[in-house]
Amino acid sequence: MNSKLFNRLCENILFVTAAKLVAILLPGFNRLKKYKNILSAPYSIYHGKLKIKNNPIRVRIAPINICNYLCLFCEIHKDNLMFPNREKNEMTLDDVKNYESFLSTTLKVSWVGGTAEPLLNKNFGSIVEYLKSKYGTIMMTNTNGSRLDRKLCDILIKYGFDSLLISYHAGTKDGYKKLMTGNIDIVDKNLIYLKEQKALHRKNKPAVQLNFALQRLNAVECRTIIDKVKQLDADELLVSKYYGGRNQLQDQKVSFDYDINEGNRVLDDIYSYAKDRNVKLCPAKPDYWTDKKTQWDHENYDSSMHCKRPWTCLHFKPVLNERNCHYVGVCNRTELFKISYDKLKLGTQQQFELLWNHPLLQYLRETVNSKDSINPVCKYCKNYSREIIRNTDAQMYADVRDRAIKDFFGYFHKNYPFVEVDGIEVLKEHPHSDEIFQEKKAKADVSLKN
Ligand code: SF4
Ligand code: SF4
Repeated sequence: MNSKLFNRLCENILFVTAAKLVAILLPGFNRLKKYKNILSAPYSIYHGKLKIKNNPIRVRIAPINICNYLCLFCEIHKDNLMFPNREKNEMTLDDVKNYESFLSTTLKVSWVGGTAEPLLNKNFGSIVEYLKSKYGTIMMTNTNGSRLDRKLCDILIKYGFDSLLISYHAGTKDGYKKLMTGNIDIVDKNLIYLKEQKALHRKNKPAVQLNFALQRLNAVECRTIIDKVKQLDADELLVSKYYGGRNQLQDQKVSFDYDINEGNRVLDDIYSYAKDRNVKLCPAKPDYWTDKKTQWDHENYDSSMHCKRPWTCLHFKPVLNERNCHYVGVCNRTELFKISYDKLKLGTQQQFELLWNHPLLQYLRETVNSKDSINPVCKYCKNYSREIIRNTDAQMYADVRDRAIKDFFGYFHKNYPFVEVDGIEVLKEHPHSDEIFQEKKAKADVSLKN
């Protein structure tokens, strides 16, 4: 079910009630658990429940903390500066079993690394085998494709792993080396093997989507990338837009937000070239740049946007300086907790609810869509200028974000008493705030000078 349809159905009381009844009647077999769960979620959403019975429908997990690339547009440089001795935190099958209470009921798991490469985890194949065989979980990963070796390809095909999103932000050998720092020939060779084996076994999965985030430095690569989609028999090309941050390009004004006419011209060229080559693009029509305010106004936000993530999503993201820990949140705007998955047992539903129905998540559910008391993080998230500020003014973006997150936690800690749980730390601020980054950067600059 696509998310737009799901959102619409969640607003229909007849559907919500009928879905809940079907969820109750459906047997609890392993392979049906995810359907029981997705059918009971609309009830919690429609009624704005704070303590909920359904589990997350979509889960993101970082299975490892390290990467073998140093892409110029990635915040890996910031992370490496802040945490020069990154913990590897390579998840094992036992770690996955510790998360089984909710992995058994979730519809989709995305293995996504932040500034890390998921396929560097040597247990990835056995994790896929376990979740696919037992629960038929839908899975995807976002990868640079360099470690998609033959053994792993065979496993992914055998167990019907669903989709690979391959970071492919340049199509030529030189462009790829410069921007992504890796060897494109290795990636292409891996994808050709995958294509041949899928054809041999008459399988469609894993689907392959190449991901191309357009910006000024790689606009010249777009036709080569479209040709590669054909050559590698990828299912489609995801045309996204570069998003800014603390990376190696931040001072080069690479975003087309600075020149939207030129950006839209390149988009037109991409769509017309792809049409001639019969290459499928996502989105199907160009998502043009439009003129947006580049000044921050706290009140300039979309108050009609109804976010359902606190009822449906859970993210487990890298903690770079502590062993066997994940940050937990529901979206990319902020982390909420730091959990130690060594200490915190989440294997049973009762244990999981200590996290999933934690007072902090209840506070988020209470305020995310509130007309008069929306919390500061969701208000900043829904701001019409958030994306353009992120792409054009790293400093202003960091200031606004860090302030919103601090205010969010400040209000919660003052007004919502809660009992501490061993293994769950409720955060107080952005753990990688710009202030901490700037302090570490200044120290690193001084030691370089000396
Ligand atoms: S491959 Fe991904 S995680 Fe690694 S440096 Fe590039 S963008 Fe960052
Ligand atoms: S910050 Fe709030 S509104 Fe934005 S995605 Fe997260 S939960 Fe939803």
